[in-house]
Amino acid sequence: MKPGQFTYHAPRELGEALELLQEFGDEAKVLAGGQSLMPMLNFRLARVDHLVDINRLGGRLGEPRFDAGTITIPALVRQRQLERSEETARVLPVLTEALRQVAHPQIRNRGTICGSLAHADPAAELPSVLSVLDATFTLVSARGTRTVAAADFFLFHLTTVLEPDEILLEVSVRRPPPNQFSAFREFATRRGDFALAGVAALCEVDGDGVVTECRIAAAGVAPVPQRLRAVEGLVTGSRLGETSASEIADAARAEVEPTSDIHASATYRSRLTGVLVNRALVDIRTKQEAAHA
Ligand SMILES: Cc1cc2nc3c(=O)[nH]c(=O)nc-3n(C[C@H](O)[C@H](O)[C@H](O)COP(=O)(O)OP(=O)(O)OC[C@H]3O[C@@H](n4cnc5c(N)ncnc54)[C@H](O)[C@@H]3O)c2cc1C
Repeated sequence: MKPGQFTYHAPRELGEALELLQEFGDEAKVLAGGQSLMPMLNFRLARVDHLVDINRLGGRLGEPRFDAGTITIPALVRQRQLERSEETARVLPVLTEALRQVAHPQIRNRGTICGSLAHADPAAELPSVLSVLDATFTLVSARGTRTVAAADFFLFHLTTVLEPDEILLEVSVRRPPPNQFSAFREFATRRGDFALAGVAALCEVDGDGVVTECRIAAAGVAPVPQRLRAVEGLVTGSRLGETSASEIADAARAEVEPTSDIHASATYRSRLTGVLVNRALVDIRTKQEAAHA
């Protein structure tokens, strides 16, 4: 398949890219890694008149920043680049775990973190991870800059708060405290496929091993990453392992309302969510015990 006709723009300055997006509005789309956009254009599931390729902006946009209080991932950081980063594995292990399960290495070589977030596929791994990390999204346009919390960024299937003239410039998360442990679990029919369901989980524990904060988000079971508030409530205030796996699984199943498709039924997906939540919590407990051994 071939895409419809479009005019290709390759600006070298951010300001130039923003002017193009402002000028062409709805008729334009940003091209980052192209790993979702190009297949959609080729299959004619999407059409654009102007493609604004941001890859030549390079420089600062291609390097993650690990500052004292914040970790920032700009628009051109590739998924594979972060997956291979030792610093990321040390400070944000949940991101490394999730990235290893995104598609295949060839796709991760080109695909960007911000592109995956802007694309907002409900089955994608990264939106749920950045949701539990309480990330802040920085959106820039010729009109100015605004920041949006992860909880407000995703609106619906393939839909975010990004306006047609905006670029997701970067996403940032607070540097996690040493008492924070996290895990990502998913199940896909074949390695590299989009998951039937996935779970990102994060717990902070006090000196007695009691969970003081818990954030869990599921992927693939709702149009946007779904926080599992009832499960978070069950886990918070007790030690990991104290609440039974069946109680946690029941709570997770009751919270999600997935839909059926050719890959899996709604019932299967909700049961799977319960299993994955428990697996993620076991991973977290194992990491916590290893840290205190
Ligand atoms: C065979 C295959 C399997 C895959 N499997 C998975 C999987 O298991 N899990 C998964 O999560 N993903 C999967 N993907 C998708 C892949 O991760 C993409 O790389 C990712 O979704 C999009 O990133 P990108 O940089 O390629 O964005 P692009 O394809 O360039 O863009 C995607 C969309 O986001 C917009 N966009 C991109 N960057 C920005 C920005 N900075 N600001 C504003 N808008 C922007 C574009 O305009 C477009 O609408 C798969 C892709 C393929 C082809």
